[in-house]
Parts: sequence; C-alpha cells; structure tokens
Amino acid sequence: MIRNVIHLINPYDAGKFPVDVSRLYGIPESQVIQLGSNENPYPPSEEVKKAFHDSISDINQYPHPEYQRLKEAIASYTGTDVERIAIGNGASELLRTICDIVVEPLDRVVIPVPGYTLYAIFAMVRDARIDFIEVPGYAVTAESLGNLSDAKLVFLCSPNNPTGNTIEKKEVEKIVEGCGGIVVLDEAYAEFAGKSCIDLTGRYDNLVVVRSFSKFFGLAGLRVGYAIGNPEIIAAMEKIRLPFGISSVAYRTAIAAVESVEYYEGVKEKIIMERERLAKELKKLGFFVYPSEANFVLVRAKKDVSEELEKSGIIVRNVTGLLGLEGFHIRITVGLPEENDRFLEAIATVSRC
Ligand SMILES: *Cc1c(COP(=O)(O)O)cnc(C)c1O
Repeated sequence: MIRNVIHLINPYDAGKFPVDVSRLYGIPESQVIQLGSNENPYPPSEEVKKAFHDSISDINQYPHPEYQRLKEAIASYTGTDVERIAIGNGASELLRTICDIVVEPLDRVVIPVPGYTLYAIFAMVRDARIDFIEVPGYAVTAESLGNLSDAKLVFLCSPNNPTGNTIEKKEVEKIVEGCGGIVVLDEAYAEFAGKSCIDLTGRYDNLVVVRSFSKFFGLAGLRVGYAIGNPEIIAAMEKIRLPFGISSVAYRTAIAAVESVEYYEGVKEKIIMERERLAKELKKLGFFVYPSEANFVLVRAKKDVSEELEKSGIIVRNVTGLLGLEGFHIRITVGLPEENDRFLEAIATVSRC
C-alpha cells in the first residue's frame, strides 16, 4: 500500500532533545544543555514577546491568506518585492515545495555533500535520481560540481550545515549559469555570515534563495521560513502550499521579529564572539575545527565523544557517518557563554580519557 521509495527513505535525524537525555541518564531536564540543534539561545525581543501575547486576541481568525504584512516586512528587510516572496512553515516546507513544483520522476537532482540531509528526503519522495557529489570540506565551486546542464535541481547551502563555511558568490553565479534547471540556495544561516546571494535572484530566473526564522531570529519553535525567487516560481510555490499553512500567531510574531532586527543584530554579535572563543579553545584541546561563519562549529575528533558528553548533560550533534565526512565528527551549536563553558569543561575531560 505504501510506495516503495518511502521504504527506502532514512528518516530525518533531528538529534537528541533534553527530555531524551534526561530519561536516559537520570539528569534533571532543566540541567541538560542543548547544543545539538543550532537554535538561538537568547530570549526573543520585547516586541516579539508582546506580539506573541497579543496574538491571542485574534486566535479565532485565520491569518491573512497571502501573509501580506509579513511579506511586506520581509521585502523591506531583504530589499526585494512582495511578489518575489513565498512563506512556509519553516524553511523545510519551502524546500519540499520546490521539489514538488519542479521534480519529475527520474529527474537529476544534485546534492553536494557533506550537507543537510533533508534535501535528499524531499527529492526521493519525488522519485528523483539523486546525484550526491562529494566535495571535501564542502569547498563548493562550479568546477567541483561538473556539468549541470541536465540537472533539474541543485541544492546549495551557504553557510553550509554541518561544515559552517560559505560558497563564494562568483561560484554561485557560475553554478546558476551552468545549471539547466533550478538552483536552490539554502541561506538558513546567512545573517551570521553577513553575506547573501538574494541580490542574484533579480538577475537569474533559475535561482531560489531559502531563508528561515529559526536561527538568526530565534524562532525555531514558531516554524516560519521564506523563499525568494522569480515571480513565476514563487507563484507556483504559493499555489500548492497549504492554505493558512502558518498560524496567525506565527504570522504576527514573525512580523515583530523583523521589525526588531536591531535586537537580533546585537544577539548575533554575542554569538559570533562566542563562536570564535569556542573554536580557539577547541583547537587548544587538539581538535580540528572547521572554519565557521554560522552559529555552530564542526569538529573532528579522534573518537566518538558525543555519548560521554550526553552523560554529563550536554547534547551536541553526532554527525559521524554523514555522507561526505570521514572520521568522527561532532557539530556544536554556539550557546550562552556559561553553556559554552560547561561544554568546554566536559569535552576537555572526555578527550583526556
Ligand atoms: C535549520 C536549517 C533549516 C531551517 O529549518 P526550519 O524549517 O526553518 O526550522 C534549513 N536548512 C538548514 C541547512 C538548516 O540547518
């Protein structure tokens, strides 16, 4: 009854959550530190808190069907036009919607690795022919991807999850120019890098940039993302999405987040400072640390350290075995300074044993 390809799909690994570690090792949940999901550890802005609370008063109503005011806020934040913006239930939904509007069975979908595992799931559901291209350290260039003239879809991620590095804009341009289909550029972490290719979407009709409110704007629990691209692709995406796919609460709160961007800029500066401190301390401990422009760092270890860290109440993402990564690796989200201290203490102990 269920399609064959569904049996072949490996479920998305969302990592461990504090409640899981609490139950496994008998640690009170409130004492578990979550550095495994690339969430923003800082509280929301006062404006966001207010908008969230105020939204209770019209919770009996549907959100605007086109999410008009949110699109206007995003248009002014990103320097684009409303008709070039699609809204989704997290960036995840938009990644899936793009697959749904372009991929036919056996179409070639190119995914450089090591990369984000969600792309392959959505492409597989469409019966795509997936071409994983191993690019060591995710040093993606047009040359490293080879001929893309027959590719229906290419997934790029900058800064990349889990390596943390970015793709140079001139390489993105070359890839988009050489691609016979659509290039999706996942910019979930772009604000931390301070660079973006959104401006290229005005020049190339086959480039779609996907963004998220989950990382920089710290709204992972609210589930909002957006895509920017040519109006024809955007209209196709908007046509097939769920009606009222994001809640009125998410709609109002996300607008407040964009309007308090200055607060989040301040949070970002703190995260970047801590990221650099984490990287420096991890190098001192002898780890190979990948250069990161995101809110996490990838580290190569000599052994599997994630379980020992969990026993001391710290969750990191174990990415050992991820396609395109050789050896033991963990990805650590930049937390609050005191959380990073506790992590550094724990990993120093674990790596000594
Ligand atoms: C976190 C993340 C997303 C965003 O997902 P949401 O559905 O918006 O929470 C998208 N792409 C990558 C690479 C991510 O790491």
